[in-house]
Amino acid sequence: MDCVLCKAGTTEKGTITVTLERDGAIVLIKNVPAEVCANCGHYYLSEEITRIIMQTGNEAIEKGAELEVVKLKVA
Ligand SMILES: [Zn+2]
Repeated sequence: MDCVLCKAGTTEKGTITVTLERDGAIVLIKNVPAEVCANCGHYYLSEEITRIIMQTGNEAIEKGAELEVVKLKVA
């Protein structure tokens, strides 16, 4: 798809690392499938992936982690 941010690039399937920060806790979620703009690097997440990321982040923060690194297992 075309990138809506820079309007010059197109996106390609890839994986990214998402950083969530809340209440002083940091959760790094690696291996997140996304559409990434080849021009500006802006990424797009599907609704389902966004939901999984939020859930994963909440679980880590609820168990009291200050720094958690999670490798996502999504096909
Ligand atoms: Zn772009």
